[in-house]
Amino acid sequence: MTGKGTELISLYIPPDKQISDVVAQLRAEHGQAANIKSKSTRTNVQSALESVLARLKYYPRPPENGIVIFCGTLDLGGHRTSLDTRIIEPHEPITSYKYHCDSSFYLDPLEEMLKEKKTFGLLVLDRREATIGLLRGKSVEARKHLTSTVPGKQRKGGQSARRFQQLRLIAIHDFYKRIGDSASEIFLSIDHKDLEGVLIGGPSPTKEEFFEGEFFHHEIQKKIIGLFDVAYTDESGLYELMDAASDALQDMEVVKQKKIMQRFMRELVSDKGLAAYGDSQVRANLDMGAVDTLLISEDLRLVRAEIECPNCGYTRKETRKYISDVFEETCPVCGSDLRIVDTVDIVEELTNICDQMGTNVEFISTEFEEGDQLMRAFGGMAAILRYDTGI
Ligand code: ZN
Repeated sequence: MTGKGTELISLYIPPDKQISDVVAQLRAEHGQAANIKSKSTRTNVQSALESVLARLKYYPRPPENGIVIFCGTLDLGGHRTSLDTRIIEPHEPITSYKYHCDSSFYLDPLEEMLKEKKTFGLLVLDRREATIGLLRGKSVEARKHLTSTVPGKQRKGGQSARRFQQLRLIAIHDFYKRIGDSASEIFLSIDHKDLEGVLIGGPSPTKEEFFEGEFFHHEIQKKIIGLFDVAYTDESGLYELMDAASDALQDMEVVKQKKIMQRFMRELVSDKGLAAYGDSQVRANLDMGAVDTLLISEDLRLVRAEIECPNCGYTRKETRKYISDVFEETCPVCGSDLRIVDTVDIVEELTNICDQMGTNVEFISTEFEEGDQLMRAFGGMAAILRYDTGI
């Protein structure tokens, strides 16, 4: 949806933001809007701000994940306009406050949320403090901070060195145990299939000591991906850990995709031949519910078009390169000019079918050999089958 001028307001309020601060800013914007030269833009911006302010009265504080408000005078075409307000409570927390006024709505943060469901458990620790968090897509969420009572290396006078060392080790062990229990509880609360792995950060040898001591719940201990050097163990350490691990995570994703492609290739040459590729073969198997895993190349750019004869009612569906491609064909039944009545992106269309059929979908990058082959040799889509359909 668009506006005629710079008059559509997008407002992202994080859960920890004071509504009164937002109200104060919007009032200031309202005052400034008086300087806008175009009368219609000025009126539209001011009425949008008034509408948002009216809605905010119902929110003494932001909801759990914050709130997003879109408001403005929409251009409906043909000189028709309409002042519209939409309120969204997102399923993930909004991380930063944003006031945006433009001729279109600002959607990036919401689109970002839709991208990634995979979650990584994060833990940064040293002997004094630990921070536990989660990484979803690119957003880091700190969940718990712990501090220890481990005494420093310097012992007090009168204490025997051996006794002091003993007490210190006990305190360290207790602290690790507390960390392990808290982190396990948080990580186990994530849906098992969404928790991709656990990353541990901190100075050496603390993190190694923690890892080897197996302080996590055994299910979580199995999910540890790696140990990484980070300097901070507070919330900023979680971000440092994400950066330090990004190469490892990237490699992990490629390894996973490689394995799936290799499984497809093996099936393709085996006697059982539980494999299919290309638009028509994959589609036929998919419709029968015979596909276990559908592999889609990240470079696949096609649309599924619905074609109709306006004269006799003949219809068919067809996979085409671009929405805007010239289409000049005549009806095989009556000879009239056919027309395209609907197009949908093929990735969207296929994933919808997969949802209905309980089929897994894997997106395969073209940045490794087998992935490149999927795009170039197999038409960008392939399937690993549950059983041989003979198609
Ligand atoms: Zn016809």
